[in-house]
Amino acid sequence: MEFMGKIIAVDIGGTHLRAALYEPEVTKPIIHKRIRTHADEPGVYGRMEALIESIWPKDGNVAAIGVASPGPLDPHTGYILKTPNIREWHNFPLGPNLTKHFKIPAFVDNDANLAALGEWRFGAGKGHHHLLFLTISTGVGGGVITDDHLLQGYHGLATELGHTLLDPKGPLCSCGFAGHLESYSSGPAIVKFVLGELEAGSHSSIKPSKNLTARVVAEAAMQGDKLAISAYQRAGDYLGMAVANFLLSFDPSIVVFGGGVSQVGSLLFDPFHSSLIKRIFHPRYLENLKIDMAALGDDAGLLGALALAQISV
Ligand SMILES: [Zn+2]
Repeated sequence: MEFMGKIIAVDIGGTHLRAALYEPEVTKPIIHKRIRTHADEPGVYGRMEALIESIWPKDGNVAAIGVASPGPLDPHTGYILKTPNIREWHNFPLGPNLTKHFKIPAFVDNDANLAALGEWRFGAGKGHHHLLFLTISTGVGGGVITDDHLLQGYHGLATELGHTLLDPKGPLCSCGFAGHLESYSSGPAIVKFVLGELEAGSHSSIKPSKNLTARVVAEAAMQGDKLAISAYQRAGDYLGMAVANFLLSFDPSIVVFGGGVSQVGSLLFDPFHSSLIKRIFHPRYLENLKIDMAALGDDAGLLGALALAQISV
């Protein structure tokens, strides 16, 4: 495949807007800039437009813009339905506005889908045709590549995997429903579980605090704290249950984990593996299945947006 023009990739993060200009077929940007998002202040779109203009090449040869945005959004139309951290974007025509202003195609998808696409094209999933990506941090996000295609769905809302229902009587999720994967395995879910157990009288080296983080719980677990260990055991157990479900839907050859919580290693992944093995519908799903960590780090959004523009233009 040959791409005629350069690509501009944009990553809309909660704290930073990042934009980078790429030559065809090169993943090291010619130029890369980032500014504060100031998500709760008006004018996010204007700041983004100015950021893109500031890296626009002198020769003007840009083939497309790819954007990784928080969702939910419609990748088919480029509309952001609503996004909790940029409140002024309600049914916001992000893709159409960019196309109108810069007079080139602009493609938009959510950050988890694009991290999946980026890992498949440039990272841990290179060479695989069927990939499941899960990011576990403040929330749980997912993306799926199947037969070398990013699964988007009819409404563009496919693979909201963090909101997979595991127990309707489970803890409250950030979305308002109960018992979703995110309500067991995200960082805040781990913290919430520990605080609840402390309140119920569990003994632990952890002191109840509003500033408690999943990282602090992980450190206590590594020191042998039983409550902290059980918090990660529970998170890993439900994660294994969820992935057992995902495998029978998507049957990937690789599962890639990103996000801060997945950095804790065996603390989460030992219980994850035993849960997955115990619950998998058929052992065949696990044959030659690779489980790996994301390789693109902070650049996942940008490189995913680059990949989206490359395959769409
Ligand atoms: Zn949810």
